[in-house]
Amino acid sequence: MKKFTLAIHGGAGTILQTDMTPQLEASYQKGLQLALDKGFEVLELGGSAVEAVNAAVIILEDDILFNAGRGSVFTKKGQQEMDAAIMDGSNLAAGAIAGVRNIRNPVQLATEIMLHSDHVFLAGADAIDFALRQGIKMEADDYFFSQFRYDQWKQMRDTDNSALDHGNQAVESLMKGKKFGTVGAVACDRQGNVAAATSTGGMTNKKFGRIGDTPIIGSGNYANNKTCAISCTGHGEIFIKAVAAYDVSAIMEYKGLNLQEAMDLVVNRKLVEMGGEGGMIGVDALGNHSMPFNSAGMYRGARSSDGTNQVLIYRN
Ligand code: ASP
Repeated sequence: MKKFTLAIHGGAGTILQTDMTPQLEASYQKGLQLALDKGFEVLELGGSAVEAVNAAVIILEDDILFNAGRGSVFTKKGQQEMDAAIMDGSNLAAGAIAGVRNIRNPVQLATEIMLHSDHVFLAGADAIDFALRQGIKMEADDYFFSQFRYDQWKQMRDTDNSALDHGNQAVESLMKGKKFGTVGAVACDRQGNVAAATSTGGMTNKKFGRIGDTPIIGSGNYANNKTCAISCTGHGEIFIKAVAAYDVSAIMEYKGLNLQEAMDLVVNRKLVEMGGEGGMIGVDALGNHSMPFNSAGMYRGARSSDGTNQVLIYRN
């Protein structure tokens, strides 16, 4: 039997045990395990990698703890604008959306674009017309509201700063004890097909229609059966410039490095040299996985048909 595997993340950044209460930690672990189990169940039942990453990311989007879907961060104008992408490594099909509001599950809209449109990437208010036509579930603004994200934004809204959940002293003190986390999933199914999906609310207090790496195919999300499926989390601007997700694939394809070696090179060398704090999760078509990060922590988990079943937050 071929090995099948699912890995997920709920964001990387300054995640320290000293900032965490036992209750909060338990909530994160529960949310991550639920997403892991839902996605893995799809693979166990013979579903595709695309279906598995979609199922896992929907659970994380619905969980208010994570910065995606419900619980997304506030923009400068006090709204939630979300980005998401999905890619199928079996045929390089991809779908992505940027800067959309009121979409309950942005990953589903990205999937709909991949499967039922002639396009790859839709953005802004007009993307809603497509969502409505396809019967994608919408929610009122209230649904996305969370008090802790609102409080986080209130501390910043009169400044010109926008906060990533990653590094930077000012942000660190603002974020102390707060919750954050872009979400993503990668999977390798029983057929050896791989897929990746990533979803985010982006940065707190973002303005001017800022978009990060998440919906950019090759930067925050990429999948190719020949090499790997990758979902990133971190300082989006740097991940865009590094073309981080595709870089892992290119290193595997052209240099012959394995998944772990290629991911380690990008996360712990190239991104570090560029000042790009964060991490990524990846699988290859043999069902191997890796979850490197160069920040203090990364919400993450992996389940595989070889018996692996782990949810982790900190470095050790
Ligand atoms: N990469 C995301 C962005 O820049 C943020 C994150 O991973 O938390 O929008």
